[in-house]
Amino acid sequence: MRLVMASANPHKAVEIAAVLAEAMPAVEIVPRPSALGDVAEDGETLADNALIKARFVCAAAGEPSIADDTGLEVDALGGAPGVHSARYAGPEADPVANLAKLMAALGEVPPPQRTARFRTVVAVVLADGSEILADGVVEGTIASAPRGDGGFGYDPVFVPDEAAPLTFAEMSAEAKNQISHRGRALRALAVRL
Ligand code: IMP
Repeated sequence: MRLVMASANPHKAVEIAAVLAEAMPAVEIVPRPSALGDVAEDGETLADNALIKARFVCAAAGEPSIADDTGLEVDALGGAPGVHSARYAGPEADPVANLAKLMAALGEVPPPQRTARFRTVVAVVLADGSEILADGVVEGTIASAPRGDGGFGYDPVFVPDEAAPLTFAEMSAEAKNQISHRGRALRALAVRL
């Protein structure tokens, strides 16, 4: 079976390919065709957005597609940025601006109240229109300052409970994939597929 990657984010694509190579070795992951345009991720939930991306790429490529949508839910911010994580600092915001806004929003909130989780929903859309969803969560806290050079996005400030005091950005790619929201969602998806 071939699955066309709907994500254009190279960091995500690498993580998805690495986890699926172990969880579903018979599946060939195909990079997103570069000619495909963007699709508006305007759903109200992570599942909506994952399905929007996977349906779009499946229809355009004529092959089964896999998409992921991820949100960081910070308890002290009422669950924000959540489904808006990619555009937290504005419609054109980049990960550095998003991270800066998160740190400013949390300010001096003390460590016990800096609890958060990453949540990923993965969607596979097959050429016959069938759709398979799975999700994964990792609980953690938001560090008081960014640490580490690995990963991407909010990784330098996310301390997963299972690897504390390391941030995701201080862990190897393999160690992150073992406990991450994305790794968990993809392994649950593999069982369903
Ligand atoms: P989206 O799933 O592409 O919409 O990403 C949502 C936002 O969360 C983006 O700003 C990403 O940089 C960020 N993000 C997604 N996955 C991760 C992750 O595994 N670690 C840290 N940040 C992430």
